[in-house]
Amino acid sequence: MKRFFSLFLVLFPLVASAQISNVPQDYFKDPLDIPLILSGTFGELRSNHFHAGLDIKTQGRQGLEVKASAKGFISRIKIQHYGYGKALYVQHPNGYTTVYGHLKKLAPKIEEYLKERQYNKESYEIELFPGATELQVEQGEVIAYSGNTGGSGGPHLHFEIRDGSQRPMNPEMFGIDIQDTRDPIVDGLFAYPIGEGAHVNNSANRQKLRLIPQNDGSYTTNALEACGEIGFGISTVDQKSLAPNKNGVYKIEASLNGSPVMNLDFQRFSFAESRYLNFLIDYEYYSNHRKRVQKLFKESNNPLSIYNGVVNEGKLDIEDGLDYNYVVEVTDFKGNSKTIRIPIKGNFSGEITPKDEIKTDYFTNYNETFSIEENGIDIYIPKNALYYDTFLDIEFMGDTVKVHHDDVALHKNITIGFDVSDIPAEEKEKMFIAQISKYGRPSYSTTYKKPTRFTTGTRSFGEYTLVSDVNPPSVRPVNFYDGQWISGNSDLKVKISDDLSGIQSFRATVNGKWILMEYEYKNNTLTHDFSDGVVTETENDFKLIVTDNVGNTNTYEAKFFRKN
Ligand SMILES: [Zn+2]
Repeated sequence: MKRFFSLFLVLFPLVASAQISNVPQDYFKDPLDIPLILSGTFGELRSNHFHAGLDIKTQGRQGLEVKASAKGFISRIKIQHYGYGKALYVQHPNGYTTVYGHLKKLAPKIEEYLKERQYNKESYEIELFPGATELQVEQGEVIAYSGNTGGSGGPHLHFEIRDGSQRPMNPEMFGIDIQDTRDPIVDGLFAYPIGEGAHVNNSANRQKLRLIPQNDGSYTTNALEACGEIGFGISTVDQKSLAPNKNGVYKIEASLNGSPVMNLDFQRFSFAESRYLNFLIDYEYYSNHRKRVQKLFKESNNPLSIYNGVVNEGKLDIEDGLDYNYVVEVTDFKGNSKTIRIPIKGNFSGEITPKDEIKTDYFTNYNETFSIEENGIDIYIPKNALYYDTFLDIEFMGDTVKVHHDDVALHKNITIGFDVSDIPAEEKEKMFIAQISKYGRPSYSTTYKKPTRFTTGTRSFGEYTLVSDVNPPSVRPVNFYDGQWISGNSDLKVKISDDLSGIQSFRATVNGKWILMEYEYKNNTLTHDFSDGVVTETENDFKLIVTDNVGNTNTYEAKFFRKN
């Protein structure tokens, strides 16, 4: 049955979602005891992904009790430097899973379970899958304390509800109630000439349209003159009642002369498709203006499942001499909505400003591979790494290569290789492939080293070169010094950093025994909590080895004393 279902989705991804039925109501309770005020909604447009849950504000604090949303068992514990930081997954008897991210600490019995395994593995980062009988939890049981770990910009709880196939669903569909009486905000509207010879207001380029507010709260625009195949794009956000944060909207619908042409909503998606966000938005506009414009048309190679109904890929065929009325309606989960009416006059134009397009020698079809080699540098782009056919701008400049521009999105890794056979071994050892920012700053790109060739995989166009890092990471104690008595300290804190290639790993011991140090990359801090109970001697030799990405190491040693 399950196999049949997924086959169905593969064959009919565009009509699959429609309305999802049988979503249990009031099964899941709020995971926090405070009013639910959000800094992020489900499906919100983020960098390279759709937001998979709700970001619940925790009043600027950490350490709030996080409660199991329903009964079940802890099915996964994932601790990582980035991403969700410390995260718990609870599997429920009805097949759904809830996820709790950016936690500060886990509840005692779960924390004990985790630490035992971290000490066995001698690693802070770990992923565990406890069995169904190991860590059972009741609804409302405290399972953790809220925090700010991982890729979190301030204290909050990231909360998800996933279906039986681990696809995140909109928690508001389950009755998780978020106050919202405000209408969505529309802060940008664009028209796109798409087809050969198409124009909008006598131009083949994207046109920004002026929104004219109406008395009833809706918008209209001046009548467009257009001809040929065109489409639209919208920049829109939603504000909930209790916070000023600009969140994602729930639904966007477009119609032409009263007939629906495009409908998308954020009920559910899969992680495998999340990066196609870069195909939904006008990525070039986003790169240059930091504003995400969602296209209201979709190319045939866009597999996103958020669309419910798309006619003619959402594109309009405007004919000379005819009048059209295009209407966009944006709706939040509570049904507050904003309408925009766009009158279009079909008008053939003899004089069209041509497309701003720079033609180069390297034209690439998105569904074909591309490769090139020069000066000992090679580039390989697999098929479907690009979303569109593109004239690539490639320039070999000595030991540096410019691989197109970062305002074009890549879906898959491309490979860039450097011939290093002429570089002496001891120099090579300290070198890595770096991406050079537009301000000239190098950043480490994961480098695979073979004796004669270095390669890197990257999903970011830009300039790449070989850079050498000869300096080891730095280590600085924060709350102790060599030879000090620190009986009053509850923890041991050290700052670590690396100037060029970045921190690759660290290992801390006391009297030769491995100690757990939690790494918080946002403030470059390693912390050992003495309540782990592994520092038991009075006189202690602390040793910390920090290694950067080319293998430079710094070994820091200090003595400290503690009364036990
Ligand atoms: Zn989040």
